[in-house]
Amino acid sequence: MFQRQTSGSVVCPSCGRLVGVQEPSCYNCGQFRPGLWGYAPLINQFGRNLGFTEIVLFGCAGMYVITLLGDPSAIGGGGLFGLLSPGQRPLFLMGASGAFPVFGAGRWWTVLSAAWLHGGLLHIAMNMMWLRQLMPAVSQLYGVGRLVIIYTVASIVGFGMTSFMGILSLPWPLQGAGFTVGASAPLFGLFGALIAYSRRVGTTDIGQQVWRWVIMFVVIGLLLPMVDNWAHVGGFAGGYLAARWLDPLKEETARHYLGAFVCLVLTFASIVASFFHGAPFFQ
Ligand SMILES: [Zn+2]
Repeated sequence: MFQRQTSGSVVCPSCGRLVGVQEPSCYNCGQFRPGLWGYAPLINQFGRNLGFTEIVLFGCAGMYVITLLGDPSAIGGGGLFGLLSPGQRPLFLMGASGAFPVFGAGRWWTVLSAAWLHGGLLHIAMNMMWLRQLMPAVSQLYGVGRLVIIYTVASIVGFGMTSFMGILSLPWPLQGAGFTVGASAPLFGLFGALIAYSRRVGTTDIGQQVWRWVIMFVVIGLLLPMVDNWAHVGGFAGGYLAARWLDPLKEETARHYLGAFVCLVLTFASIVASFFHGAPFFQ
């Protein structure tokens, strides 16, 4: 199964032409080691079989349960939005983001981990419902490797932006977040990616539909003070720019799968780092 290919040809990860797996550089575009030392087919296999939607749905559900069980006495029950909300401590420990964790506690890597945490039952249910619809759509248009990259970049830009805006003392609704969690930053990145696709291909129907959703969320965000608008704005911008850079009209290649793998490893590392860095705060 985990075998290097030592003969025959592979698709160049840069230009998409067939090249010999042993070639030191692509005859067509000059890409260094287009066969990735024989591992290109393995990486392609990993990419094509990657079920990122399932990873996100089960990952978020698992992290939600962990943060609930982390401090059962702190589980909130007040009102629709407070229903089954995990305590602040387990959320901080597992990697909540915002001005306080990022600038106050130096936990800059939480721009990755925060997208896997949720503040309540309604919060996670809403985000998972939207992601379950949109992730397969973006995966179909961009391929799963580029979906992972778009998702990750949107999370970084979204939580980075709201954390930065959180240190400026702006009045609501312009204020950033002091403490924030949720997959809606990358969800807005998917909106951005769909709009980028629509513009790239020159079709208006996808774009119009997505803009309707975005406007609906912006209106909700201006009505409900607990919505993190800057995470949405940043996530949208990050997803849109990443999607433009990853040009959906070009074939997905081993290079994208490699990028996706790096994103997954960094995301997992951010959660582990959050836990080990955060544990001494509570001793
Ligand atoms: Zn090439």
